[in-house]
Amino acid sequence: MDFFMGGLIAASAAREAADQALRTSEINQAANLVRTDVNDLREQVERLALLTQSLWELLRERLPLTEAELEKKVQEVDMRDGIADGKLGRHPLRCPKCLRVSNSRHKRCLYCGLEFQSDVFG
Ligand SMILES: [Zn+2]
Repeated sequence: MDFFMGGLIAASAAREAADQALRTSEINQAANLVRTDVNDLREQVERLALLTQSLWELLRERLPLTEAELEKKVQEVDMRDGIADGKLGRHPLRCPKCLRVSNSRHKRCLYCGLEFQSDVFG
């Protein structure tokens, strides 16, 4: 290999290494953003769990409610979007009575008051 070819190969390897370093840096930046988002979400979830537990304990102290009633309500609310997945979920629902669009988080149509049945929207 002559001197010129050797220089070309070295330059090409250097460019490749620089490109790889840039890609690695971009990946690390993206990973840091994801890590920050996950930490923010974890803090929000912990805050919500604390609020939920506190609300439940307050309700139980003031009202004659049982864990079974809470569980029944959780299942009812879970099924409002037609899917028993342990999540609130939300998507637009067309009311079968007035045909206007409400949100699956609501128990009743926002416009005509029809109570949504989970099997209707499932
Ligand atoms: Zn309606």
